[in-house]
Amino acid sequence: MALIVQKFGGTSVGSVERIRNVARRVAKWRAAGHEIVVVPSAMAGETNRLIALAKEIQAHPDPRELDVVAATGEQVTIGLLAMALLELGVKARSYSGWQVRIVTDSAHNKARITSIDEAKAGNITTLGRGGSDTSAVALAAALKADECHIFTDVDGVYTTDPRIVPEARRLRTITFEEMLEMAGAGSKVLQIRSVEFAGKYRVPTRVLSSLTDPAIAVVEEAQAGTLITFEDDPHMAMEKAVISGVAFNRDEAKITVHDVPDRPGIAYAILGPIADAHIDVDVIVQNVGHDGMTDMTFTVHRNDYAKAVKILKTQVQPHIKCREISGDERIAKVSIVGMGMRSHAGIAAQMFRTLSEEGINIQMISTSEIKITVVIEEKYTELAVRVLHKAFELDQA
Ligand code: ADP
Ligand code: MG
Repeated sequence: MALIVQKFGGTSVGSVERIRNVARRVAKWRAAGHEIVVVPSAMAGETNRLIALAKEIQAHPDPRELDVVAATGEQVTIGLLAMALLELGVKARSYSGWQVRIVTDSAHNKARITSIDEAKAGNITTLGRGGSDTSAVALAAALKADECHIFTDVDGVYTTDPRIVPEARRLRTITFEEMLEMAGAGSKVLQIRSVEFAGKYRVPTRVLSSLTDPAIAVVEEAQAGTLITFEDDPHMAMEKAVISGVAFNRDEAKITVHDVPDRPGIAYAILGPIADAHIDVDVIVQNVGHDGMTDMTFTVHRNDYAKAVKILKTQVQPHIKCREISGDERIAKVSIVGMGMRSHAGIAAQMFRTLSEEGINIQMISTSEIKITVVIEEKYTELAVRVLHKAFELDQA
């Protein structure tokens, strides 16, 4: 008997019929002798509807009150799901987040879980707490669950978003490090923080489809989807492609500070005030100096773009005397990710050649041990993802 936390995304609980299917699937796992805690999201579209209501009242809703409003979405699904389970003759009970005292940090809508005192895992518990991948994995960690199942509208983690590249293939396993880079580079199948939790607390996490027949045998479903593994895992020998996936992110913007004095402390003078405003900076490039001057370019989330430019113009420009501050919101990041990069040379060259053959200009480059990211014009995103997917033979089993 195992303790399993199962999370179901918004699409998976998007209608009464789908909620019934979730109940059938969960009841099946329970009948196989497992203890189950279910963390459903709000019904698809509901969270957006609630946020829109809040924005009618406050252009920038108070974070605490926005949490209160948004939490009603999960309140509905935990209750309905418990009812659907009771209808199947299965003992089930719902608990809202505060009933099991899960504490989030002060950055409310980031819902970072800092402590979980208790959660009652008797029979089947349906639990409302953010309904997010992160709360599910954090809960699994806190409960010392044997496994965390993330049920969604795809049957696992693919080599790239299957909505963009139909030839994308499902990965049977992906290492936690690769998944972290994929999520960080924009693969929205799992939230970044959920992967961080999975890695930190070594929670075996599996991504599964909620749209298959709920009656599929437990032994079969237990091996389905994609398992996030740890590199030293014994069942990690297979699937040794150099590149595991291609990720992309269109949520960024780039800012250039032109002709700043090329002297010590200049990067701090520019980026310090940005950091003080809690704006995350991602790719950073400083040009080689010319005549004692240099340019610095970096990317921020598109939502932070206007704020960052304003800080630079009001707080930074008067002190460092740069010539100009310019920006571009129509950029995208495209990344290739794979453990194999550690042992294979020439991967970056192959990536750059592939993009150049399509006439795609690379504006910025950043690398980690297992990831190469390029910043390109946004309009080329899909083309870049497709050609890289093909060039690294990710469409081939
Ligand atoms: P949920 O509401 O269940 O949390 P999400 O929309 O957050 O669902 O995540 C599932 C979606 O993630 C898929 O429908 C798919 O379009 C997208 N996605 C992006 N990258 C990938 C990838 N590499 N593998 C699988 N799905 C991906
Ligand atoms: Mg999701």
